Amino acid sequence: MRPIIAIAFISLSVVAAADAQTSRVAIHAASAFDGKGRSIPNVTVVVANGRIADVRSNENVPPTYDLRGLTLLPGMIDTHVHLDTHFGRDGRAETRGESPAERALYEAENAYVTLMAGFTTVQSIGSPLDVDVRAAIARGTLAGPRLLTSIRPVNENTGTPDQIRDFVRKVKADGADLVKLFASKSSREGGGQTMTDEQVAAACGEAKRLALRTWVHAHSPSSIRAAVNGGCTVVTHGSYATPAEMQLMAERGVLFEPNIGLVSQNYLENRSRYYGIGNFDDEGFAFTEKGIPMKLAMFKNAMQVKGLELLMGTDAGAGAHGRSAEEVIYRVQVAGQPAADALTAVTSLNARAIELGSRIGTIAAGMDADLIAVDGDPLKDITALRRVKFVMKHGVVYKNINPQR
Ligand SMILES: [Zn+2]
Repeated sequence: MRPIIAIAFISLSVVAAADAQTSRVAIHAASAFDGKGRSIPNVTVVVANGRIADVRSNENVPPTYDLRGLTLLPGMIDTHVHLDTHFGRDGRAETRGESPAERALYEAENAYVTLMAGFTTVQSIGSPLDVDVRAAIARGTLAGPRLLTSIRPVNENTGTPDQIRDFVRKVKADGADLVKLFASKSSREGGGQTMTDEQVAAACGEAKRLALRTWVHAHSPSSIRAAVNGGCTVVTHGSYATPAEMQLMAERGVLFEPNIGLVSQNYLENRSRYYGIGNFDDEGFAFTEKGIPMKLAMFKNAMQVKGLELLMGTDAGAGAHGRSAEEVIYRVQVAGQPAADALTAVTSLNARAIELGSRIGTIAAGMDADLIAVDGDPLKDITALRRVKFVMKHGVVYKNINPQR
């Protein structure tokens, strides 16, 4: 699992004094999708000191990485994963009795497969375990995506509005990057509102005061309205959202993160590993099965709502790590979203939603060098996202399996 570290590329003939201590690499690819809808043919991206220094077309210099035949993209971003979840020793999703070290190592594995799948940034929503994993990744010693976390969620049992505000301050002090709210039941239990409007408003109001974003688990129309009226940042899931709630979100600038292509499908594919745990019973799985076409119809409605921004978050749990791109593929192949829109969502739109839009999500000079390359052109064949051949995060190459022709 040792990452392949980028080797400094020094051209002896033209090392300028100012560049003497700079490791510069040039990456050439068939084309680049810049994250904002623009394609750059025959592209060369120059990287120095972890940043993109220059983006050129039809450059005639020998590159450090010759990725001919591949398409460069900004490192992908998943705004909603549960990086701690995994199948345990017996292959089941119930993992009680594991040691802290086992749990941390499972999370490290999930981080690794997520990075190798081309996701250089993810938001974990969230677990106390994320804090140490986030630190290890940030130290550069553990190969994983840049990690943001909500650590512990707010729900209807967190307490009174005052107690909820205390909780938000505590989770911020513990290092949370955002606050997660459970404002409704699980979709396996019908998704009805659980937190009161006052509880939701207390959590989102206090988070906003502390400059923290809020991600609200809300399935039912009333729970979505509570999130919008409470000044929250993002509604996630939204399985039962009608065009009226979607319109309201668009008007009030609340971002929407539906999850239609991976999470439910993964539960069904791994039914025996989940069956019998909590609400994963016959009734729960019946909701999951019915939910797939329902959420597809909901997403098609959402695409029609002018001004509604659709983030690309998967809600990936055990069994789904490393497969986040399936959400993008499903949106394009099944829901009919234009590939350029789906690719923009998983790059620059998601970057903006997590307030890192000035650093990641776009291929342009000055941005962090988070770059991936896929086999094929995802604008024409979105399944190219399954064929990630090259991964660079902040200028460090973690994967390069393209035969250098
Ligand atoms: Zn979730």
